[in-house]
Amino acid sequence: MILSAQSTDKQVNKITRQLFLSVYEPADVIAMGQEKLEKAVSSVNYYKMKAKHIFQTAELLIEQGGEVPESTEDLLKLPWVGEKTAKVIQYVLYHQPVIAVDTHVHRVANRLGIVQTTTPLQTSKQIEKAIPKQWKTIAHHALILFGRYYCKAQKPKCEECKLQSRCEFFLKSTKVEISCGS
Ligand code: SF4
Repeated sequence: MILSAQSTDKQVNKITRQLFLSVYEPADVIAMGQEKLEKAVSSVNYYKMKAKHIFQTAELLIEQGGEVPESTEDLLKLPWVGEKTAKVIQYVLYHQPVIAVDTHVHRVANRLGIVQTTTPLQTSKQIEKAIPKQWKTIAHHALILFGRYYCKAQKPKCEECKLQSRCEFFLKSTKVEISCGS
């Protein structure tokens, strides 16, 4: 997660494919050393700062027993961990039914009227109540992919979208067009 800030998935995946061959847990990061870690991640933006943050996080986790915390409260106490990162960890590592909200989830959830919010943090709180527990794991990826490739920020593919009749954004925009045209 630290590596991904201001970097593309492609850049990060290229690094982690190699890095994860030897690094599985905080102790492996410490054994590698900060300098070697810097070299290993040097193809992402801000790699020196990111390597430092990864190293410091590994040190902190070891101090706390070597395990990544599971609760939201404990995760948010870690440096560089916000609401979204905490939920990604809970979802990926601990298989908890939570929805991590990125820009795509925030936009799509608002367009469809699942939530009515102005910030991703507000969406993160509201969406947990709006989506039933059994749908959360699938909803997380479905909303991200739908937003990334279909319901894009600019020029969403509304003409071919099967959710038109349920989409508040679409219904509002067509209403405006009709009233302007009449
Ligand atoms: S109708 Fe358009 S804005 Fe609404 S969900 Fe579909 S693509 Fe997104």
